Amino acid sequence: MKIIAFGVREDEKTVFLAHKKQSDFTLTTLPQHLSHANVHLAQGYDGVSVLASCDVSESILVILQSYHIKVVASRSTGYDNIDVAAATRCGIVVSNSTYSPYSVAEFSLMFMLMLNRKVVAGMQRAQRYDFSLAQLQGRELKYQTVGIIGTGKIGAALAKCLSGCAGTILAYDVIENPTLEGIVHYCDLETLLATSDIISLHTPLMASTKHFINANTIVMMKAGVIIINTSRGELIDTAALIDGLQRGHVGGAALDVLEHERGIYHCDRRENPCVWPFYEALQSMDNVLLTQHFAFYTTKAVEDMVTCSVMSILATVLNHTNPYRLN
Ligand code: NAD
Repeated sequence: MKIIAFGVREDEKTVFLAHKKQSDFTLTTLPQHLSHANVHLAQGYDGVSVLASCDVSESILVILQSYHIKVVASRSTGYDNIDVAAATRCGIVVSNSTYSPYSVAEFSLMFMLMLNRKVVAGMQRAQRYDFSLAQLQGRELKYQTVGIIGTGKIGAALAKCLSGCAGTILAYDVIENPTLEGIVHYCDLETLLATSDIISLHTPLMASTKHFINANTIVMMKAGVIIINTSRGELIDTAALIDGLQRGHVGGAALDVLEHERGIYHCDRRENPCVWPFYEALQSMDNVLLTQHFAFYTTKAVEDMVTCSVMSILATVLNHTNPYRLN
């Protein structure tokens, strides 16, 4: 059996090699993300391992089909980069990974605390030996209402983390999560938007969730609201968010993900600073935190991501039940 993995970092390589030692397969790992420029390298393999930053659109899948690829297994949880319907038409199995949701949940909680307590401003000041307190007064989660939109694996883990420290936890989802009984108060979206001091997004990116946060929904929010996005950049209409921040209606935002980040995040761009229209506007605001899509990035999560992907390819090619299969 032959596996090719795209977008592989050094830390993932170690986990891939450990699996290769245990199971009998040929492995090629490449640092490049799957794209039209390198899809030809998949010829002669059985399974392809990808990340959310890889292009798995219909045109790529048609090429993979012509190479008789049986499975495309993502090491990421989010799979909005994969045209699952097209993969089904091409007869290619698609899977995603399940890993510790606490990686992203704890990152979201950290964002809330950092914005609430103006930690970045305080640290920058302390580094300059300016130990004054002016404008550093913060807020306590204990006296705030946090609204979680999307209570699947990550949203639920966040609710459990918050249950010890937030005042009230509101939640909105199209399907209520029974494990959160007694931890969150489910309500309609309008109530959550109107009453939350902090809103954290945890839905996948789909046609129905694109620009979920937009000029209309921002207007419905409490003045001074903090918005946290560790899910997908396209959940927010970024131009509308910037407008809300500039008008002061939005009190702060922490974004681990940003619209149009693919091909930019996860690369060192110091020599070639490639900024896209709203990046500079966001970067210049001291009530905005920007990170390069690394909420997932823990030792445990990386082990799980590679393991799920390898297991999915092995199961598909060997005709075993594939627990990670999406189509
Ligand atoms: P999940 O599938 O377990 O949960 C998603 C939840 O969203 C489900 O409960 C679903 O019912 C709900 N939902 C779907 N459509 C909705 C709608 N229109 N309104 C309200 N709720 C809706 O997914 P998860 O594992 O919790 O991951 C969530 C997302 O987090 C992923 O899709 C991915 O985009 C993102 N993610 C980001 C990182 C990162 O490093 N920043 C890492 C992992 C995942």
